Amino acid sequence: MAEFLIGSHVSMKGKDMLLGSAQEAASFGENVFMVYTGAPQNTRRKPIDELNIAAGKAYMAEHQQRAVVVHAPYVVNLGNTTKPQNYAFAVEFLTDEVHRAAALGATQIVLHPGAHVGAGPDAAIAQIAQGLDEILTAATEPVQIALETMAGKGTEVGRNFEELAAIMAATAHNERLSVCFDTCHTSDAGYDIASDFDGVLHEFDQVIGLDKLKVIHLNDSKNPQGSHKDRHTNIGCGTLGFDVLNGIAHHPQLAAVPKIMETPLIGSDRKHGVNPHGYEVAMLKAQRFNPDLEADVLAEKPVDEFLTR
Ligand code: FE
Ligand code: FE
Ligand code: ZN
Repeated sequence: MAEFLIGSHVSMKGKDMLLGSAQEAASFGENVFMVYTGAPQNTRRKPIDELNIAAGKAYMAEHQQRAVVVHAPYVVNLGNTTKPQNYAFAVEFLTDEVHRAAALGATQIVLHPGAHVGAGPDAAIAQIAQGLDEILTAATEPVQIALETMAGKGTEVGRNFEELAAIMAATAHNERLSVCFDTCHTSDAGYDIASDFDGVLHEFDQVIGLDKLKVIHLNDSKNPQGSHKDRHTNIGCGTLGFDVLNGIAHHPQLAAVPKIMETPLIGSDRKHGVNPHGYEVAMLKAQRFNPDLEADVLAEKPVDEFLTR
């Protein structure tokens, strides 16, 4: 049986950087994990030689961790055709992000394709494709840029499979592009994840090709199908539910794809809550939901006691 590849978004900060990320992932029982190379909401980044890569890679190997996925900051927008200076910056930043990801040993950089900010999706798609070509011509390491399926809030591009396919078709670097499938976003975008995931996967295969699916973002959604909201919630606590997300996590056609949770902290506010990822990993490994997830996480119950009831 294939190894179950499960992890979450973890932090990369301080002096420890990659080593700290790998240790955080290990503390949750994860064998894959995702990092932003700095704060997701800004583009200040440390030089590669301050990312503590050798120690991080050694720790990953010792702990049988299979992959680190990089997520590009969500403030870079290749799709903005109204501010040329932003486009040039985005290309430069993402070219360096490919260098950083390659140095970290990542083979996938998750990227929000962009937002058209009023100019319409077609203009944005053309510019995103051009930007990807510039980036992938300048940065030749064996890293793929994984375009993320978006919820369709605001003027986001990538709100359906056709838009992602259009970007890929317009580039000269198709082989360096892949897709990150976010379960919350696709449901919010209107796909019937909750009751027909296999039908959606079939449609994905028809429009993009299943071989392009390289990362899964495994998130429950606070909102119903088609809401275009993009509010993640914990596994089993939203409109998708545990059985659906567990089925995706263990889907035989997706066994080789890392599943990365981006679920929120549990508590009264998002900054000071308790990190639930160890508990969510335990539920998905056991394939069993704990309806007292929130209460047990808040009580910081030991993870190994949390499924025995
Ligand atoms: Fe994302
Ligand atoms: Fe996501
Ligand atoms: Zn999201």
